[in-house]
Amino acid sequence: VSGAAPTGAGAAGADGLRARLVPAGRSAVKGASAAADLLRRDRSGISVLIYHRVGLHLLDGGRAGQMEVDPNAFERQVAWLAANRRVLTLDAALAELAAGGIEPGVVLTFDDGTPDWVEHALPVLERHRVPATFYVATRFVDEQVELPGGGRPMTWSALAELDSSDLVTVGSHTHGHQLLDRLDAHRVDDELDRSIDLLGEHLGAPPEHFAYPKAVAGSTVAEAAVRRRFRSAVLAGTRSNRPGQDPHRLHRSPVQRSDGERWFRRKVDGGLALEDDLRRAANRVRHRGRTT
Ligand SMILES: [Zn+2]
Repeated sequence: VSGAAPTGAGAAGADGLRARLVPAGRSAVKGASAAADLLRRDRSGISVLIYHRVGLHLLDGGRAGQMEVDPNAFERQVAWLAANRRVLTLDAALAELAAGGIEPGVVLTFDDGTPDWVEHALPVLERHRVPATFYVATRFVDEQVELPGGGRPMTWSALAELDSSDLVTVGSHTHGHQLLDRLDAHRVDDELDRSIDLLGEHLGAPPEHFAYPKAVAGSTVAEAAVRRRFRSAVLAGTRSNRPGQDPHRLHRSPVQRSDGERWFRRKVDGGLALEDDLRRAANRVRHRGRTT
């Protein structure tokens, strides 16, 4: 983790201190979350993992983002899942949850829409025959403008190539990556319908599954609009989904750069919910006043 810290003059002062303290805080949170997990006995259910990018996208200051997973680490994680766990398509997982299945399983999902999905993620999924769902924010692909977190989007032809794999399901992540809880009913409908229309036009079929931007569910109006259009929707939660789980409020567990093999496996088995609770409390403050 410390290898991601900037070196030389840039590491001096507050930035350097932050680069050392933030990873330490992160690992303390993971440790506390694992301890909290010991109090929960039942580890069954279906875990939905979130990835964003596979590959290195450096933030200002040369640090790697927490949601960027190194391609070699991704390959190790997928190989381990293929050998040790049941990796399901989202559709199969929804069917099992609806039927009351209790056998543990894992679903892989990706958010946003970056070129690395085709360059790095798809070859790994194909090699290990592991299915995944990719949620696309269509405005960035359509207009080829930088994504909210920075970085270039994929092209429509790359998305069509991805979608042509029998392992891939494509879902909607809104059109403009708008946080739906702060839009009026008309703009919510527009965000959803534009993404549905564009994906239908470019891929030949409208998406059936949805991921809320930044896992912010928000208003009753937004939730009703999502329920009318999609068969499922995913939020956060960092815990597994049990039979009876609302398919429009599925829990997901973000795979972070700082997880390493140890915390990755805990998340696969539905652990580290406390980490998510703490992050959500922090994000409520951070996302105040933001729209994307
Ligand atoms: Zn997103």
